[in-house]
Amino acid sequence: MAIQNHKSDSNKLNKLNKEPKTKNKIIYAILVTILSAVALITGRYSVSEENQTVQSDQEITLADAEFQVHVIDVGQGDSILVCADGETMLIDAAESKSSTEILDYLASQNVTELNYAAATHMHADHIGSFPKVLEQIKPEHVIEPVYADSLIPTTKTYERYLDAVEATGAEYTAMKAGDSFTLGNAQITVLAPVDESAKDLNNTSLVLRIQYDDIVCLFTGDMEVQEEKTILGNLENLGLLKATFLKAGHHGSDTSSGEDFLAQVQPKYVAVSCGVNNKYGHPVQSTLDHLAVWTDQIYITAQQGDIVFYYDKDTKSCDITTSGKES
Ligand SMILES: [Zn+2]
Repeated sequence: MAIQNHKSDSNKLNKLNKEPKTKNKIIYAILVTILSAVALITGRYSVSEENQTVQSDQEITLADAEFQVHVIDVGQGDSILVCADGETMLIDAAESKSSTEILDYLASQNVTELNYAAATHMHADHIGSFPKVLEQIKPEHVIEPVYADSLIPTTKTYERYLDAVEATGAEYTAMKAGDSFTLGNAQITVLAPVDESAKDLNNTSLVLRIQYDDIVCLFTGDMEVQEEKTILGNLENLGLLKATFLKAGHHGSDTSSGEDFLAQVQPKYVAVSCGVNNKYGHPVQSTLDHLAVWTDQIYITAQQGDIVFYYDKDTKSCDITTSGKES
């Protein structure tokens, strides 16, 4: 993002204009090539040919953004880092095989401790790496959804998760609709589960609404239409669902992101977390079509790698950037 301030480089560009034309053209061509590559990744920059200066539509950079959502490319699973004013929450921790990837990513963001670790629900592609991640990076709080005793998993993955959480000594809370907490200046409200009536784990997913200044982000775990209906049935929620950013439920499956739910959310940016050529066929085209009714800003980890949504409080603007995939 070092090219952000090229406007102030106009003196340098004026000087270039006085040099021999061919050299000038080569330099200009290089500049355009670099900027075009950046534009492909961020979609934010444009080059004005008349005055050969670089203009940015928005004066924000990821480094300046007080609020950031990092949807880490962990293959078929979820792991999302939320940063607000220097405080951090990790929502889910993918399959156990992704632990090095998650730890490396957290290290790249200088995250050495977590204020919150949130397990949306007890499936392996959401809690698998928590044991190794929490061993290295201690959370102050661990949160998970309330759900019926009959759904408590008997898997080794779940046992390892429980042992790891206990070993951290973190405060451990099962949450449900109406609970709330803060992360920096972000206000976080739990929208679901509403109660313990869900019949399967996906529909116990902890659904988090994060409001930061003027924007709202929704994190839905693997919530399916059944749980979406319980949220829509709670009239107090209806005014709360409209969101700038939506992490689409259940990896873009057609069991989630129902039209009634999306009509309330009206997302401007959507992230789908799923693996390349995954055996479930996620994301499903009909779901992408439903999302496309509301926005053309749909990003998929399987195609674009890590997805980072960020918001700058001073300019009240947000943007999204992706790492791209190695081919
Ligand atoms: Zn999942």
